[in-house]
Amino acid sequence: MARPQKRRRVAAHPQVSYFKPRGIPMVQLEEVRLTVDEREALRLADLDNLSYEVAGRRMGVSRATFGRILQRARRAMTDALIHGKAIKIEGGNYRVVDEGRLFACRHCESRWEVPPGSGRPTACPACGADQSFRISAGFSSGEDQMEPSP
Ligand SMILES: [Zn+2]
Repeated sequence: MARPQKRRRVAAHPQVSYFKPRGIPMVQLEEVRLTVDEREALRLADLDNLSYEVAGRRMGVSRATFGRILQRARRAMTDALIHGKAIKIEGGNYRVVDEGRLFACRHCESRWEVPPGSGRPTACPACGADQSFRISAGFSSGEDQMEPSP
């Protein structure tokens, strides 16, 4: 077993947790696993363009640790893209911080997060559909999540 680690802070909890290449039967499909903290590292580094230093601070880890998390995450994503594998996002060592509410559009199925304290959105930011969304179930903040021990 790995040594115990401090739980990493994750601000955006994934709702979509499985990605599957088209046209490959499930029985033939190989899967890569991306942990929730690895997904967060990708988000902070590659979408928000934060430095390892800043991103590491957001997640409560060192710059070096952040770099390692990111490297594993990119490797898993590349493996999936190159070899046509499914991506399963689950587990990892993390806790969810910074409460936000997650909405999903019934019309286009896009999902977006609304910061705490702001009102209910009036239109989908992706397609503009009016009031046709719901709060996604299972989005709970401040809840500790641990990977089950094998
Ligand atoms: Zn929409």
